[in-house]
Amino acid sequence: MRPAFLLALALSAAAAVPHAARAEGASPTSTIVVHAARMLDVETGRMVADPYVVVDGERITSIGGSAPAGARVVELGDVTLLPGLIDVHVHLTGDPTDSTGNYYQDALTQGPMDSAVMAPTFAKRTLDAGFTTVRNVGADEYIDVALRNAINRGLVTGPRMLVATVPIGATGGHVDETTGFAPNIEFHGVTGVANGVDAVRERVRENVKHGADVIKFMASAGVLSNETSVGAPQYSQAEMDAIVDEAHRWGRKVAAHAHGTEAIKMAIRAGVDSVEHCSFIDDEGLKLAKQHGTYLDFDIYNDDYILTEYAKLGVPQAQIEKEKLVGRVQRENFRKAVQAGEKMAFATDAGVYPHGWNAKQFAKEVQWGMTPLQAIRSATTDAADLLGWKDQVGALKPGYYADMIAVSGDPLADVSVLEHVGFVMKGGRVIRAAQQP
Ligand SMILES: [Zn+2]
Repeated sequence: MRPAFLLALALSAAAAVPHAARAEGASPTSTIVVHAARMLDVETGRMVADPYVVVDGERITSIGGSAPAGARVVELGDVTLLPGLIDVHVHLTGDPTDSTGNYYQDALTQGPMDSAVMAPTFAKRTLDAGFTTVRNVGADEYIDVALRNAINRGLVTGPRMLVATVPIGATGGHVDETTGFAPNIEFHGVTGVANGVDAVRERVRENVKHGADVIKFMASAGVLSNETSVGAPQYSQAEMDAIVDEAHRWGRKVAAHAHGTEAIKMAIRAGVDSVEHCSFIDDEGLKLAKQHGTYLDFDIYNDDYILTEYAKLGVPQAQIEKEKLVGRVQRENFRKAVQAGEKMAFATDAGVYPHGWNAKQFAKEVQWGMTPLQAIRSATTDAADLLGWKDQVGALKPGYYADMIAVSGDPLADVSVLEHVGFVMKGGRVIRAAQQP
């Protein structure tokens, strides 16, 4: 077990600042100062000793060598402060822990209402693990919009969210829920299935109308669905072009799910902002991504979870066999992408494995070619850049949201310390003040 953080006590002690100090008006009472032994400046890679991070309301106002007189000080002690982490590929509306262990029973007895009930729990687990911002790239029935709005209003505790709402895809493809079921089976509700240039444009508009911050579509087949191929393109070039054109017209970035070599290149040529999974990307795909400035989001942790746990969940063997085709190659291609100097953001597909385990991917990223600093940047500055929130989150700087975490030890020496976050602040509010066993 790791040493407990003692800051909860420090926080209450610091609150007892003499009234006289406040009366002198040195600083407003809403000011909180977070003090730790070290802070990682993720932009320079420098470790800053003994920082005092001054927070007023939701934002950082300054970082210096001492606390303003009268301010409440949160003493964290011998820990490393970092910006709150960002995961650009999660699904907060589901998780293997809510499975009955029978795939078809789940499909027939669980609906979007179950997802809506569970989503706040998954959001809280994610935030407690130090992920203060996430991009949710696919949810049923606009549950992600409702969750984002409730979090923004302070009614639910969870990370900042950018949401894609209902992913768009072809009939028989990765979003078509009845693929593999008898032809007379049909699910009611909002569907992302759309075919043809006009229909996909309409689907983009529909998602924007109902609150999408970003557009997600399926450029290729997938693993955890019943179509037979894992990587074949599922849209024509004209359909992909139309989706991206329409989304960008509405000021929305586009994330394309693509495992297959050709689908990845088609999506990049269409102008997507990020490719998700990227499993079978080839040298030409890497070159194209670089030319277009496309982010490549490899989810290289969850393979371990799928291969050890999914048979127990009753997931059809054909899907598990598809994962076996993807896992190793995807990691080898992750290494190639790192070596090629591609833009890469931290994307885990949390929801495929339990929420809150997101940070397990850091060690995989280092194992497959990133330095610890590159891995940390993938989940801070680089992820923020992909989201379009570069001046808001992903760094500890004046003007940025006061989203920060603390860990024992040095994440530049051992990135796995990020799996044990002891302190979480989001928007100036302490979410988690002590290490949990
Ligand atoms: Zn996903």
